[in-house]
Amino acid sequence: MALGVLVTASPWGQSPAAPVPVAPATVSSPQTAGDEGVGSTPARSPRNANYTITARLDTDARAITGRGTIRWTNITPRPTSELRFHLYWNAWRNADSTWMRERRLSNGVARAPRVEDWGGIDVTALRLKQPARELDLTSRMAFIAPDDGNTLDRTLMTVPLPAPVEPGGTIELAVEWTGRVPRPFARTGVIGTEYFIAQWFPKLGVLEDDGWNAHQFHQATEFYSDFGVYDVRLNLPAIYWVGASGTRTNWIENADDTETHQYRGEDIHDFAWVASPNVIDHETVFEHPTLPKVSLRFLIRPEHRGQLDRFVWIAKATLQYYGEWLGPYPYPNLTVVDPAFQSQSDGMEYPMLLTGRSRWLAPTDVQMPEMTTAHEIGHQWWYGMVASNETEHAWMDEGINTYTTARLIDEVLARNHIEQRYFGGFVPWTFPGAPFTRLDNDRLTGYRDNPEADVPATPTWKYWPGTASVVTYNKTALWLHTLERHVGWPTMQRILATYFERWRFKHPKPEDFFAIVNEVSGRDLTWFIDQAYRSSNTFDYGVQDLIGETLADGRRRTTLVVRRYGEATFPVDVVTTFANGESVREQWDGLERRAVYVYERDVEARSVQVDPDRVLVLDVNYTNNSRTVRPRADEAGLKWALVWMRWLQEVMLTYGFFA
Ligand SMILES: [Zn+2]
Repeated sequence: MALGVLVTASPWGQSPAAPVPVAPATVSSPQTAGDEGVGSTPARSPRNANYTITARLDTDARAITGRGTIRWTNITPRPTSELRFHLYWNAWRNADSTWMRERRLSNGVARAPRVEDWGGIDVTALRLKQPARELDLTSRMAFIAPDDGNTLDRTLMTVPLPAPVEPGGTIELAVEWTGRVPRPFARTGVIGTEYFIAQWFPKLGVLEDDGWNAHQFHQATEFYSDFGVYDVRLNLPAIYWVGASGTRTNWIENADDTETHQYRGEDIHDFAWVASPNVIDHETVFEHPTLPKVSLRFLIRPEHRGQLDRFVWIAKATLQYYGEWLGPYPYPNLTVVDPAFQSQSDGMEYPMLLTGRSRWLAPTDVQMPEMTTAHEIGHQWWYGMVASNETEHAWMDEGINTYTTARLIDEVLARNHIEQRYFGGFVPWTFPGAPFTRLDNDRLTGYRDNPEADVPATPTWKYWPGTASVVTYNKTALWLHTLERHVGWPTMQRILATYFERWRFKHPKPEDFFAIVNEVSGRDLTWFIDQAYRSSNTFDYGVQDLIGETLADGRRRTTLVVRRYGEATFPVDVVTTFANGESVREQWDGLERRAVYVYERDVEARSVQVDPDRVLVLDVNYTNNSRTVRPRADEAGLKWALVWMRWLQEVMLTYGFFA
């Protein structure tokens, strides 16, 4: 650990932590259908996919050699006669993988990676452990491509079993593999001496009631796997600092100038780790009167030393607010990694480990590193614990998380007094004259450029790769903001908390979320979900005409025509303000193409605004929502200049860095 630049309140470089004794599980919760005997804590999840791994990183060869045991239980009501494994690194084995093909479609750039960039994974042995002997399955392994028939794709593997695994049955497999660490692709790989190692071992798909749910690796989607216990030993040169999913249980200095780091994570569904010879390692504790204590560890780039307080502050704020709003973070620790420049690891989530992007000069107004860190910590709830299928329903993680990130950032940065302490009174979230909230952020610009890109209900891996994130992140966040404004935050908070409480450590489907929306709100909101989620129709309300006339008696008649320009419908308020300051609010159900309101007053109307409270955040054209009798060009010009400034900042600095 010699090369760490600065050690603050850390046991690193001193003595290794005492190993945590492994005791048999004493409690199995009712939802524990699988292997509750493998962990040291009461099971929160089925724990049916358990990995014991020993891996060695050869930094000269940029290679990983791994072996281990996978203990898997069939928790479905049907037997299965095969296993399916993800081999994600093979997406970067050659230019013809489905991932690479989709990337070319996505960005239109044919620039091929350099030869030395490629990575890959080879399973060198797979054996079924049986009481008498091990049965070698290696020769049975075969690559499959159920999504697109791409015979050159090696990211999904099937292994026929000699006998079916019955419901409730458990098997153990011995596995050996080698991996070549790629130059960074999709937040994974090595740049210089900085390793971010994710999706690096043969990982089982998810057996569902109707068969294996395991897709090839697609460029615009992420992952899906079952919960279990991970016990991982990582061997690498002693100069590296290591951070990983789980809790460090042991640390051994070996005679060959390497060290072995042992980590254990329970009720998690993936395992990632980082290694760097040059980080600031800072540890602290999150404490709260009603939430469990969490040990926090920060691995920060030395050049970002000055931002350590900001990382710590936003991590604690996120644990606090999400804990209060949704339910507690139940794991004993969490590691926040500030990724290396050009590592492609800008912001990425793994169980109990995440990267939160920063910059050398992070201006406070662009929310780095706060926004990425809050976003990635939020994934601990929406990906880590509520483990929906990110390949088919990515919005359930990324979209919900984008929405709650904005909710959180708005709460803690724009209003919270703590801000004053760290931002010196600078108010980052608003511009004078052009009030800005989380509703605008960068989400509307991205969405309205491609509002009809795909119907959100389409399986995510089928989205057009170039615009998938617009649907997954932007549109979902916008319709959730709209829903919040329609039902109110207290109801929305109960929807989210109920969803989290009921579906943590499980794999909910979209219908499970929608059922809770209706149940908790006490309303049938299917009409809205049908339009926002099951269609690509756009919402757009606006003012068509505002006509003033003078009547025979000298009074003024105002005729107002408001219009539904989009296919989708939503109730909107319409507020007309008169020259004497009086304003009249109408509630239009928004169903017809137009509504006409006629007012006769002593004075003329000055302005009209459709949806003045901006409930319908999905409205793709807000500029047509208002009309004034005398155009106020200067003010409008200023307003739009400020709006564009904000958009440009957000788009340039924020958009695209989340995962
Ligand atoms: Zn994300």
